[in-house]
Order: sequence, then structure tokens, then C-alpha cells
Amino acid sequence: MTLGKRFYSLLGARNQMLLDRMRYQFRLLPRINRRRLAHICYPQAYKAAVTISADFELAWAWRYDKRVSNPLEYAQRRAQRARRSFPELLVLFDCYEIPVTWAVVGHLFLERCERQNGRPHPEILRPPYFENEHWRYTDGDWFDADPCSDYQHAPDWYAPDLIRAILSAKVEHELACHTFSHIDCSDAHCPPEVMDSELAECKRVAEAWGIAFKSFVFPGNLVGNRASLKRYGFAAYRWHSGYELDVPRQDKLGLWQIPGGVCWEKPEGWPVDAWIGALWRCVDRALETRTVLHFWFHPSCEPINMEAVFPALLDHVAAQRSDLWLTTMAGLVDWLTSVGE
Ligand SMILES: [Zn+2]
Ligand SMILES: [Zn+2]
Repeated sequence: MTLGKRFYSLLGARNQMLLDRMRYQFRLLPRINRRRLAHICYPQAYKAAVTISADFELAWAWRYDKRVSNPLEYAQRRAQRARRSFPELLVLFDCYEIPVTWAVVGHLFLERCERQNGRPHPEILRPPYFENEHWRYTDGDWFDADPCSDYQHAPDWYAPDLIRAILSAKVEHELACHTFSHIDCSDAHCPPEVMDSELAECKRVAEAWGIAFKSFVFPGNLVGNRASLKRYGFAAYRWHSGYELDVPRQDKLGLWQIPGGVCWEKPEGWPVDAWIGALWRCVDRALETRTVLHFWFHPSCEPINMEAVFPALLDHVAAQRSDLWLTTMAGLVDWLTSVGE
């Protein structure tokens, strides 16, 4: 951790909010990767692009969360909140005709699963025990929380019904991959064989739905094992470069890094209006600098986002749709590929 980051983490939510509000006011936020600005030319004379992705995991993301005393109970609470918000979210994106990249945990595609010789998903290699900045997995089996049931009896762990709802929405969304069981993909904590077995299962499950993934989102934004992504046919991943506004570029393996942008969930301590103002500023700065602005979120976020933040931001974005290209990660990749040919 750099000294600046360490100082920031010690400030506490209220002081962080005050500092960040000042940074937005003095145009220190959003940060812009100025070195890259000259290299982009959008289709149809658009001036900038906005893309939205959702990390869609229900209970899987939080079962080893080390910030809470009872992670399993917390995980289920988050899953239930996501399920409550889901219909409203789909209506919101339909209303504004804005497509979203849903980065889905592979297990959610299943209607049901069962133990084989007493073991859930024996074909999937388990990660070794680890602890990272978000999660602590130090005993038991990685799949201990898997109820080995079905989506009607254990709706926190399966979501074929919600995936069907995404596929039947009016607007054409993208389904992307977020690993099979929300592993830490970093090279330090994930041997390549574990990543490969997770991706193989995601691919197998998605094929049964007629889906071929193009985009990938790393759980916890913990990047690693990119060679596995290449092996399993992915074209792009969400990349948090340290700049909120940036343009896509290719990594050494030829995979597209789609700028990670901003988590648009209202951070703790921010007044709603001030946060909406900060997000509007990001949109305006993207237009000025002709960059890609990526908003990402969890469907299980606090209800205030659904009630106030997201509608206000989508309003602002939709009002400028003649200048803003509203597309998915796959939309960006298809265009980048066609430009390169
Ligand atoms: Zn299972
Ligand atoms: Zn996640």
C-alpha cells in the first residue's frame, strides 16, 4: 500500500468523503489518463462512451467476508436484497434503454446441484487457503456453503430465474463471467489449474444456455491468471488502472482492458445530492476528454442507490445520448476489433 493510500484509509468515512468532495470540486477527481487521449475515435461521431457492469453473485461473494462477524448470514442478506432490487433494476434499464454487462457467478446459472460421493462439485479444483484484503478462507471446504439444492429452495445460491429475466428484457444486455464460485483470481492466491477448472465449468454451463462469454470481471477486482482467460476464449476484462476515465487498450496477451471507471454506489457518509453531482461530473468530464466511463455496481447494494442515485444518473446520461455511446463491454470489444481489422 502506498503512503497516500495508507493515509486515506486511516481517515475514516466522513473525512474521506470531505476530501473526495474537495477533489471533485478542484477537478482532481475523476482522474484522467491523459497520455492516451489522442488515440480514440468512436463510431457515429459519438464523443465518449458509457458502459455499465453489474457484479452479479447473490450470496457467493460475501461468504468469506472478513469485515463482518457472521459472513454467511451477511452473504444471505445481500443475496435477498439483490433479489428484491432485481425486477426494479431491469425496469430501470429498460426504461432508459441502456444495456448492461451482467458479470454472473457461474453457479447462478444452475437450476440445481447435488453432492457426488458427499462432495459438491468434485470436478472443480479448490483454491488453497488464503487471506486477502476482502476475504479469509482458512478452514473447511471452499464449497461448504453450497446448499446442494435448487433455486426454489435455496434462492440465495442459484439464479436461473433472474438470468431468464435478463435475457427477456427489452434492452439487449450482455452476460459476462465472474468465475464459477467467486474465487480470488490473483496469481498469489490462485494456481492456474484452479482458474482453468472454474472457467471450464463456466463455459460448460453457459453453453447449455447458448451463451458464449466475451467479457470477464475479476471477483474483488483481484486481477491474475490472464493466460487462462485467453485459453478459454475471453476477449476482454474490466481493468482498474488507477484512472476513472481512460480508453481501452490491449494487454500483452491481446486481451482488451476495459477501463474500470467508478463504482456508482453511494459511498458511506456522502449526502445523496453531492454523490449524484460527483457522478454527473464524471459524465461531463468523459465528454470533454472523449474517454470511456464505466459505472460498476452490485445488485445487492443499498436501496438508496435504486431509489435516487441510479435514476438521477441514468437521466443525465440518457439526456446526452446523441453524444454518448451507451454500450456494453462486448459492444466496445466488437467495435475495437472491427477498427483494428
Ligand atoms: Zn452447487
Ligand atoms: Zn464479485
